[in-house]
Amino acid sequence: MAKIQMKTPLVEMDGDEMTRVIWQMLKDKLILPFVDLKSEYYDLGLEKRNETNDQITVDSAEATKKYGVAVKCATITPNAARMDEYNLKEMWKSPNGTIRAILDGTVFRQPILVKGITPYIPTWTKPICIARHAYGDVYKNTEMVVKKGSRAELCVTDENGEETRQLIFDFEKSDGIIQGIHNLDSSISSFARACFNYALDQKLDIWFATKDTISKKYDHTFKDIFQKIFDEEYKEKFEAAGITYFYTLIDDAVARVIRSSGGYIWACKNYDGDVMSDMIATAFGSLAMMTSVLVSPTGVYEYEAAHGTVQRHYYKHLKGEETSTNSVATIFAWSGALRKRGELDEIPELVSFADKLEKATIDTIESGIMTGDLYLLSTLENKQKVNTEAFLDAIHDKLTEIA
Ligand code: NAP
Ligand code: MG
Repeated sequence: MAKIQMKTPLVEMDGDEMTRVIWQMLKDKLILPFVDLKSEYYDLGLEKRNETNDQITVDSAEATKKYGVAVKCATITPNAARMDEYNLKEMWKSPNGTIRAILDGTVFRQPILVKGITPYIPTWTKPICIARHAYGDVYKNTEMVVKKGSRAELCVTDENGEETRQLIFDFEKSDGIIQGIHNLDSSISSFARACFNYALDQKLDIWFATKDTISKKYDHTFKDIFQKIFDEEYKEKFEAAGITYFYTLIDDAVARVIRSSGGYIWACKNYDGDVMSDMIATAFGSLAMMTSVLVSPTGVYEYEAAHGTVQRHYYKHLKGEETSTNSVATIFAWSGALRKRGELDEIPELVSFADKLEKATIDTIESGIMTGDLYLLSTLENKQKVNTEAFLDAIHDKLTEIA
C-alpha cells in the first residue's frame, strides 16, 4: 500500500518520561507505516530545554505559528525535585504556559467516550468540551490581610495622573481580607474568538456563563465582549453551520450541564474552567481519555493529551518492569493534528486516515483489549488487560484491516 503523502510539515514536539516512550512506539506502529510523515521536530524533553535555555520551546511555538498545526507530547514542568534529578540550570517555566502565551491560545479539553465505560452522569452520552480562559482573574491577584480599623479602597490612576477611588470596605469591627484582580479586553476578545472558531471547527454549540447579575462590571464585561464579537463576526457563520451560541448565568449553566446529554463546548472563565475541567474529566472516567487542543484566535492548533508524563509508570519502565500505560489521548492528539493538516492542505486521504486511526483505537477497546486504567472501569465482560506495547500492537492490527 502506498503511504499517504503530506504537503506542509506538522510541528512535532517531543516530551518526557513515559509519554516520550509511548511517542516513539506510537509513531513506529501507527503513523509511519501509513503516512509519509513530514514533520518539523522539536525536542521539548527537559534535557534539551535545559541545554538550550528553553529556547527550543519558544522555537517550537514560533514554528507552530508559521505552519499552523502542532502535536505535542506531555512534558515535565520543573519543580524543586526535578532541579536535582535533571541538574537544571534554572527552574524552567511550564512549556505549555510558554506556548500558550506565544500563541495567545485557549485550551479545549474533551473526553473520548467508549462503550463499557459509563460516565458517572449516565445521561452524558456525548462529550462535553471545556474551554478555559487562561488569563488573569484570581490567578494574577493581589491580596492583603487587613487589620481592624482599616479602610480599603480601590484606586485607579489614569494616564493624566487623575485618581478615581471607591470604597471596598471599612474594617471597623474586625480584621479581614481583600483581593484585587484584573482582566484585559484584549485577552477576553482572544478567548471569545478562539471559542467561536473552535465551535465552527467542531460544528458544536457553545455555552458561556458568568455571574454577571452580581458582578455588574467585571463579569458583565465578559458577557458583553462575547456578545459583541458574536454579533459582529460569527452570527452568520453560526447560522450557516446550524450551531448556536448560548449565554446564561453560571449557576444555571451548572444545572443545565448536569441535565444535558453532552455534545457542546462549555466556555468558562479562568477559575470556573479550572474547577469544572477536573469535574468533567473525573465524571467521564479516566484522565488518560482526555484530549486537549490549544487554539489561537487566528486559527493555529496545537494538539496534546491532557495528562502528564505518567512518571510512576516511567520509573517502573526504567526498572524493566511491565507497564500498562494508556496511549489513547496521545493517539488522538496525533489524529487531531493529522486531520487538521489534511483539512488545511486539502488531503482527503489524510483526513480519512485520522478517522480510521481513531476508529481502530475505539474498536480495540470496545473489543475488550485495554490498558489497566480502563480495565478497572470497564463493564465489558470479555475485557483483557494488556501492556503498553501490546495495546498499540492491537490498534495497529485493527488499523491495518481498515486503512
Ligand atoms: P500524570 O502524568 O497525569 O499522572 C498521574 C496519574 O494518573 C498516573 O500516575 C496514573 O495513575 C494516571 N495516569 C495519567 N495518565 C495516564 C495514562 N496515560 N495511562 C494510565 N494512567 C495514567 O501526572 P503526574 O504524575 O502528577 O505528573 C507527571 C509529570 O507530568 C509532572 O512532571 C508534571 O509537571 C507533568 N505534567 C505535564 C502536563 C503536560 O505536559 N500537558 C500535564 C500535567 C502534568 P496510576 O499511577 O495510579 O496508574
Ligand atoms: Mg483544576
